[in-house]
Amino acid sequence: MSRKEITGSGVSPGIAIGKAVVQETRPIPALRIPLAADKIDEEIARFHRAVEAVVSRIKRNQARAEKTLGHEYAAIFEAHRLIAQDPAISSPVEEIIRSEHVNAEWALEQVVANVVARFENLGDLYFADRRLDFLDVATQILRMLQGQDIDRLNDLKEPVVLVADELPPSLAVQLPLDKILGFALEMGGPSSHTTIIARSFGIPTAVGLHNACHEAMESQLVALDAFEGKIIFDPDTAEIHAYESKRRNYHEQQAQLLHVRDLPAVTRDGRKLRLLANVDLPVEVDLANRWNVDGIGLHRSEFLYMKMSPALPSEMDHLRFYRDLVQRMAPRPVTIRTFDLGGKKLAHDIIGNPETNPVLGLRGIRLCLSKPDFFRTQLRALLRLAGEQPEGRVRIMIPLVSGIEEFRITRLFVQQTTAELRAEGFEVPEHVPLGAMVEVPSAAMMATELAQEADFLSIGTNDLIQYTLAVDRANELVANLYQPSHPAILRLIRQVILAGAAEGIDVAMCGETASDPLMVPLLVGLGLTNFSMNPQAVPVVRHLIRHLSYRESAHIAREALKMTTARAVEEYLLERLAVLFAKIKIRI
Ligand code: PEP
Ligand code: MG
Repeated sequence: MSRKEITGSGVSPGIAIGKAVVQETRPIPALRIPLAADKIDEEIARFHRAVEAVVSRIKRNQARAEKTLGHEYAAIFEAHRLIAQDPAISSPVEEIIRSEHVNAEWALEQVVANVVARFENLGDLYFADRRLDFLDVATQILRMLQGQDIDRLNDLKEPVVLVADELPPSLAVQLPLDKILGFALEMGGPSSHTTIIARSFGIPTAVGLHNACHEAMESQLVALDAFEGKIIFDPDTAEIHAYESKRRNYHEQQAQLLHVRDLPAVTRDGRKLRLLANVDLPVEVDLANRWNVDGIGLHRSEFLYMKMSPALPSEMDHLRFYRDLVQRMAPRPVTIRTFDLGGKKLAHDIIGNPETNPVLGLRGIRLCLSKPDFFRTQLRALLRLAGEQPEGRVRIMIPLVSGIEEFRITRLFVQQTTAELRAEGFEVPEHVPLGAMVEVPSAAMMATELAQEADFLSIGTNDLIQYTLAVDRANELVANLYQPSHPAILRLIRQVILAGAAEGIDVAMCGETASDPLMVPLLVGLGLTNFSMNPQAVPVVRHLIRHLSYRESAHIAREALKMTTARAVEEYLLERLAVLFAKIKIRI
């Protein structure tokens, strides 16, 4: 064993020391491998072992789902078990291996292509669903054959550092996060959704660790320094001690922030701000409550779809889930964003054919409006919930609005759904706040008009930066170009804040920039009053705000707006704030 390290960039702070679990998740294309005649029986046996392993995994998941989600949901697993054991898969796979002398992966892919084509010819909605189930099971068998048994992560016996090539959010939410000490990823970016989940759960994470999966060995001891963005394989004793002490210091610093928990987020010169939580998974409500937030500024409802995948949530699933969220946050308001599937958050194959450029494709409100039945199911639940709760407590937010028309159509849809519910005897209040996310540059440029129609706005910098600067938020190769302090971004943010103020509506920010200590003084100075962020970031931002002066922040913002490059803005902020950060122990 030898000491080795790889450096990428740290995206969720902290230190993790532990055994590595190495998991490649990117699908491996099945290659056609010719086999010698005497290897055929062995290959068929290997295929059956993979099927059996998938079947026993499905049974275990079924038992778990029965306990946690109820019988109805567990029934999906029963259907999957039947598919996995269906001779309609195993017989033709065996037949191809035998007749063509090829490997099981290749044979399985041929069978899958055939079956999928047959389903497509049937064209019915029922068969479209069966096709999804079939594909799901076939993929599980293929992964098992390729040694990519991702589900094994559900059975972790001890906490580990997960080393992976790529970790899509749909996989991240399925993981037992309490068993994850850290994520060491080859791919990812500072505001990719998996990074956001990691930050919320306080899981140290580094991305851009090229070749980490290749270098790491299963069960090898690693130290992940997510401040510096590096992973060390087989660290020596002195290094382990140094990292342990760094970790202790960090935790002590965090603990010291407890004293600000119940203090108001008010600047030294009396400007009162609101700190809200971004909540993706229900357990984060406890974190939000621990840090005494003023409400939930963003619930990414697509996580319900990811959690339930491959099943789609029913109206009652939605209702129960959101009701629980709202009750646990009461009496504070909860902003629930309608599903923003698509892009990199494709939990369920709602769309059908994969898009060549999904981030510019059918995601957010576009997908909602193109699938009115899915959208209606969610809206009905949200409006019913609003009827159960005191007025204003449930707020509905629309993702990826790119212009006024989309917002108007959505409002109309909400009105129609309200009328439909009332006709069925449900109570729906006259006014359920309907807001728009401003995360597409065109929406930011139309902020004045949007502010006249929306009840509130929320700036989604994660996408706004991605789309304005044409930089994939999850691609570490262009991470240096992903610049929250870019003058174009600052101008758009200012424009939205001013538009909201002119119309007298709330403007919040719910992108990661809202919790970036370097950017917070600038945002305060630009007049932002509602900051929504992952709950773990709340104490630092509260602590910082209490040491800022609004007047000085406004000056900082005015100066920053005169600058022409992101670098100049950043250097100016660092210079202006260095003394303050050192004094109040905030690390950038
Ligand atoms: C954003 O784009 O800033 C945002 C909050 O939405 P998401 O991160 O879910 O895309
Ligand atoms: Mg977004």
